Parts: sequence; C-alpha cells; structure tokens
Amino acid sequence: MLELMEDTFLHKGLRQKLVEEIKKKGITDTNVLNAISKVPRHLFMDSSFIHFAYKDKAFPIAANQTISQPYTVAFQSELLKIKKGDKVLEIGTGSGYQTAVLLEMGAQVFTIERHKTLVMSAQTLLPKIGYRPKFFYGDGFEGLPTYAPFDKILITAGAPEIPKKLIEQLKIGGLLVLPIGNDQEQTMTLVEKKDNGSVEKVEFGTFIFVPMLKGKV
Ligand code: SAH
Repeated sequence: MLELMEDTFLHKGLRQKLVEEIKKKGITDTNVLNAISKVPRHLFMDSSFIHFAYKDKAFPIAANQTISQPYTVAFQSELLKIKKGDKVLEIGTGSGYQTAVLLEMGAQVFTIERHKTLVMSAQTLLPKIGYRPKFFYGDGFEGLPTYAPFDKILITAGAPEIPKKLIEQLKIGGLLVLPIGNDQEQTMTLVEKKDNGSVEKVEFGTFIFVPMLKGKV
C-alpha cells in the first residue's frame, strides 16, 4: 500500500514528457504546465490503469465516471486564467485530479460531486498528498449559494446549457468554463459575467465529457 503512494523519479520523468506533449498541443500558460508537472496523476487512477497514468487520455474511475484527459484539464485550467487566491467553484470532483491542479495553481477550491463514493475517495486521497479543497456532496446545478460569489467556476461534466444559478453565484467580471452539448460531445465554452449581469460567450473546440446530471446518488 505504501509503495502505491510513492512518487518516484520515474513518475516525475513521465510527467515531464506529458508536459512536453500538452505544450505541443498548444497549452502555453506556465502556471498550468507547472501544475501538471507537479500533481502525481498516478495516485488518482484506479489500480488497473495506474501504468497508463501519464498517457494523455481519459480513464475510467469508480461510479462509471472518468478522470479527464490531462490536455483537457490543462485547456480548461488555462481558460480560467487562475490567479493566486482566486476563489474557484468546481463542479464534478471525480478523482480530484483537476481539483489538485487548481490548488497547485494557487486557487482556493470548493468542489462538488454528486456521487458519494467519489466524494469519499477524493476526501481521503487529497489531504494525504497535501491538497486541501473544501469538499461537498451535492448537485452542482445548485452551486454553493452560501459560499458565493466565486471568481471562477469550472464544470468538468457535459452540461446541456449554462446553469442559471451558477451565473448568479459568479462575481461580475468572473469566468465560467464549461463544455456545453449532449451526452455524445460538447463545445468548450468560456462565459464572462459582465457588469450589467449579462454574459458574453466564446466557444472553443469539441470535447467529450461524461454528462452533468441532476440530483445526487
Ligand atoms: N475533474 C474530474 C472529472 C470527473 S468526470 C477528474 O479529473 O477526475 C465528471 C464528474 O462530474 C463525475 O464524477 C460526475 O459524477 C460529476 N457530476 C456530473 N454531474 C454532476 C452534478 N450535477 N453535480 C456534481 N457533480 C456532477
């Protein structure tokens, strides 16, 4: 067990290669690249996929969900333009890998997950390796009104549309990054809340996420 929690020189070397790979794919934000080079992704994977941890691919985790592809994590993190101390709401904790990347970038993270089993495993793993977000078991469509407003909101599941309550919980000038589409594919979308409360949308490429679903399980 102890052995499984190790982060060796081999792992660090593989991460460096992964960073080079996502740089080639167009990620330039040094804060993002630095975070990817630091977070031990192999510790977030199911044991049967651990040897593939530094491949730039999504893999299955518990509850029929996935750990996002590193390039996708980097792309969403870059769009968020994270600054030290940013208060970030993340919808879809999953393995907690993206959560750790945001923390490594200097954000203060509030993360919501609708699968109890995933909340429990992330809540056990992250503090053990030095990452301390605030965890919530709940429905991300509701957000966290008690802790609002947020500087940034990130949705890591495919949403059918922009969730209204999340816009309400965003600061003026704040950013929401989410994939919008059906359960087959989605368009990465950056939403900025303007000072009259309206929103401005910019669309990026096509991505594939597990769907954002209502309620908790
Ligand atoms: N960022 C995660 C990606 C996990 S996949 C990682 O890197 O591992 C997306 C996650 O969103 C799944 O765990 C899924 O259960 C969760 N999810 C889907 N709809 C949700 C909702 N309404 N509220 C909270 N979490 C949700």
